Amino acid sequence: MIHFKHKAVLFITLYMLVGLITPLFADDDYTRLRHILVEAIEADVKATSLHLDKKTLDPQVLNAMRKVPRHEFVPSLYRRSSYTNRPLPIGYGQTISQPYMVAVMTDLLKLKPNHQVLEIGTGSGYQAAMLAELVNQVFTIEIIKPLADEAKSRLARLGYDNIETRIGDGYYGWEEHAPFDAIVVTAAGSHVPPALIKQLKPGGHMVIPVGSQFMVQQLLLIEKTADNKVKVSQIMPVTFVPLTGKH
Ligand code: SAM
Repeated sequence: MIHFKHKAVLFITLYMLVGLITPLFADDDYTRLRHILVEAIEADVKATSLHLDKKTLDPQVLNAMRKVPRHEFVPSLYRRSSYTNRPLPIGYGQTISQPYMVAVMTDLLKLKPNHQVLEIGTGSGYQAAMLAELVNQVFTIEIIKPLADEAKSRLARLGYDNIETRIGDGYYGWEEHAPFDAIVVTAAGSHVPPALIKQLKPGGHMVIPVGSQFMVQQLLLIEKTADNKVKVSQIMPVTFVPLTGKH
């Protein structure tokens, strides 16, 4: 009898082999899969409309989802799963977020083309590319150097020239380019980093998951009013990798 651990190793090896020997999809297939993915996201938005307080997302956000080639942002082993509506591993214990979550977080930022946006947690660079489809300038910080390096060259290769990347601890934001019209944090903190609130423009929006790794995290929407007051709304329970760093 094959031991469970051995069965798992055998299964993973076979999965990897199938992924390596079967041809990948053509560009047209990926475009079609992206459209199907957006339909799945639209259905999920309807199903979670009580949390979101709306039944549909901004059409511009959905258009950006139809455009950004998610398969370019996932390791080749997972490429054929790149348009399933779920997070996928990107190495170093990190993930590319679920497309539904990327769409919802982007929508909550209420972006306009002239906006300047800060992202904490570049990861694969996918969320940054989504933002770059919608606004003038994106700044993104990643704490894991190899991920930051890979994302930087991937984004350049795909022609995203309005994204500036940096290796560092995003807990402290990016003072030189502040203030930002919008900030998106793609890893869960135990609290909202004070520097990020400071670096948000009056009238600006920030989305951030808050909570610990082993308990329910909440996606928060933070709005800074024109007179610098901070309004916090709890959107929905979520699961994110932790915001790391020395803080
Ligand atoms: N936005 C990413 C994408 O589109 O692929 C997904 C990000 S993944 C869910 C969270 C990322 O946050 C990881 O790459 C992780 O290394 C990064 N991270 C965690 N703590 C950080 C910190 N203090 N500063 C910057 N990046 C951080």
